[in-house]
Formats: sequence, structure tokens, C-alpha cells
Amino acid sequence: MSDCLFCRIVAGEIPATIARRDDPFVAFADIAPKSPVHLLVVPTRHVDSIAGAAGLGEQERAAMPLFIAEVAREAGIEESGYRVTTNHGPDALQSVAHLHWHIMGGTRLSETM
Ligand code: AMP
Repeated sequence: MSDCLFCRIVAGEIPATIARRDDPFVAFADIAPKSPVHLLVVPTRHVDSIAGAAGLGEQERAAMPLFIAEVAREAGIEESGYRVTTNHGPDALQSVAHLHWHIMGGTRLSETM
């Protein structure tokens, strides 16, 4: 989608610090990190949120957790630990309507983070 921020990052139209690109996923640094390591993982195919995950292919859905774990491993936080979250909708304060997983780590996270 041409007006989607994360689609534009995937397309290379908006700069981002790419951690891993392995079609059909891209991982990049969150622009406003809430922990020492804060990465975002997106499918290259646009779906608005996890509520639209049926719009992804079966293979993409199956591969997503493996990609996320690999990105965390490469970021050096597998042993220390990390949190993976995704927000859907207003109550979760989703601010970008393109499915993305937050990978946060590099410090002891609070219960509410
Ligand atoms: P959410 O609130 O779950 O929708 O998360 C959106 C995330 O995208 C926030 O943590 C933002 O800091 C992050 N973000 C917004 N714009 C950019 C950008 N241009 N590059 C990287 N991360 C971004």
C-alpha cells in the first residue's frame, strides 16, 4: 500500500535500519526504542494487524515465529531474554496499521512494558 509507512520501509522508499531482510519478512530498528534492543518485524505483504493474518499465506504464518526468533538471536538477546508483542486496534494503542511484531530486550523488562 503506497500510503502505508511500513510498506514504504519494505520498499526502501523510507530509510530504516534494517536488521534482516529475508522475503517475506523484514526486521528493522524501532525509531523510538523503548528498550536497548527494540526491533520490529513485518511481513512484506500488507495486512493491517494480526486480526488480518488470514490475509497472509499459510507459509508466511508458519515461518513468522522462526524469523522473529532468528532476528532476536542475531541481535544477541536469545540468552538474556526478550519479549515479542503485537498491538491491534485503539485499546492496544496500535499506531501503524501494518502488522508488526515488537521484539524488545537488552534489559530486564517491566511487567507493563
Ligand atoms: P504500534 O504502536 O504497536 O503500532 O508500533 C508502531 C511502532 O512503530 C512504534 O514503536 C514506533 O516507534 C515505530 N515507528 C514509527 N515510525 C517508524 C519509522 N519510520 N521507523 C521505524 N519505526 C517506526
